[in-house]
Amino acid sequence: MAEYSKKDGNENVHIVMLPFLAQGHLIPFLALAKQIQQTTSFKITIATTPSNIQHIKHYYYDHNHVHLAELPFDPTQHGLPPNSDNTKNLSSLDAMLKLTMASLSLEDPFRSLILKIKEEEGHSLLCIISDVFVGWANNVAKSFGIKNITFTTCGAYGTLAYISIWSNLPHKNSDSDEFWIPGFPQNYKFHRSHMHSTLRETDGSCDWSRFILSQIQLSMKSDGWICNTAEEIENLGLELLRKFFINLPVWSFGPLLQPLALQGKERGKGLEPCIEWLDLKDERSVLYICFGSQNTISAFQMMALAEGLEQSGRSFIWVIRPPFGFDINGEFNGDEWLPKGFEERMKNTQKGLLVHQWGPQMEILSHKSIAAFLSHCGWNSVLESLSYGVPIIGWPLAAEQVYNAKMLEEELGVSVMLTATVESVISGEEVKNVIDMVMDQQSGKGKEMKVKAKEIEVLMREATTQNGEVKGSSIRAIDDFVKVILQN
Ligand code: UDP
Repeated sequence: MAEYSKKDGNENVHIVMLPFLAQGHLIPFLALAKQIQQTTSFKITIATTPSNIQHIKHYYYDHNHVHLAELPFDPTQHGLPPNSDNTKNLSSLDAMLKLTMASLSLEDPFRSLILKIKEEEGHSLLCIISDVFVGWANNVAKSFGIKNITFTTCGAYGTLAYISIWSNLPHKNSDSDEFWIPGFPQNYKFHRSHMHSTLRETDGSCDWSRFILSQIQLSMKSDGWICNTAEEIENLGLELLRKFFINLPVWSFGPLLQPLALQGKERGKGLEPCIEWLDLKDERSVLYICFGSQNTISAFQMMALAEGLEQSGRSFIWVIRPPFGFDINGEFNGDEWLPKGFEERMKNTQKGLLVHQWGPQMEILSHKSIAAFLSHCGWNSVLESLSYGVPIIGWPLAAEQVYNAKMLEEELGVSVMLTATVESVISGEEVKNVIDMVMDQQSGKGKEMKVKAKEIEVLMREATTQNGEVKGSSIRAIDDFVKVILQN
């Protein structure tokens, strides 16, 4: 097998990428495409639905070499509003399930796309990189006799916990509140109260279970997995995941982050007010709060968070959306969901900035005034925060977020979990106490977390850097992946 180098001009390798229809998945896929292109001259095509193509073109498309292929998809045929082919645009969990199930209908158009590429580029060495939630791509790859690699977009620890818990439902066999998840060391205990209700209650026959399990099982038949993490930060998670998969290669290419300049483009006019406001603040004095692209907390929790923020007297910037159970993209009713006069008081005292719907997250996190991030611990948010050395207050809500939060606290020491799920009951005082602990970075736990987050920032940068002949672990992983792709 020949050694591959970019100079070889091996353009006859064509990678077709197939992300799941969510913002938190599209972004790392784009970053993955870019990362592979920096080290190879492979042709890369991202296949997705029409409005996701428009979204990518409009906000993120800076490199001509990534091709985009449209997979016909009409959300209205699946009982969804027009243009709702991204979870970010959906207003409820019910709509999220509809889109998730509807994503299965992409198999036929995707098959036609691969057939067309095969006919047009008969000589190409094709490979499909598909999202863990697009396991059916493995059937397509097999039927054409081409390689299929799964990209989880998450970290290793979170991926393993997520797969294992949905597959084994270990909490169902335990009377205790704490239970063990197969694949983890026996002394690792996970807490029932940290699980979101869908997972806690399922017996494995609900629509979510059937979708997740079928897609995971198919993805486990692929030729290897890529995680959005780095060896240095997820030593344990990667070791466990590799043991769990036994014969499959697991590569870590991360952190795969979207470029800052591109993020700014999406924010448009929302960017400047945030930065101007942050510019007025002292260094490391502001708490940033955001629950990701598709999650929100309950109305009761929102009230407690606002009370805790006000009691702490710390400066904060909060990307706020209507609470759980209401249209997350709808009008924000501050009179009902926040303490009386809260927004006005925060504005007048300059203590807090409420950013409605969507904030320029990367730009905020990269600002020198930010001291900590109160986050739902979606994996992109975690990587973005740590890439700027910002410690995290965890408030996981769904998906694998709670395992990320646990790993960040117990393995990396860069986070504390304030609470978990939309159902938890929390008081303003509890919120205040945790905020005070993490925001006081001169001493104690807050200082420790800041120091560790700064260490992780350095390790993450090193993983993706090449100094002469010395390559970071994520670059070495890409080299190894390329060798496997070129094997016939
Ligand atoms: N994001 C953003 N502004 C927002 C909310 C989210 O820029 O107001 C971006 C964030 O920077 C991250 C992505 O959306 O890149 C969210 O991904 P993550 O994995 O953190 O959470 P998810 O939305 O998938 O739950």
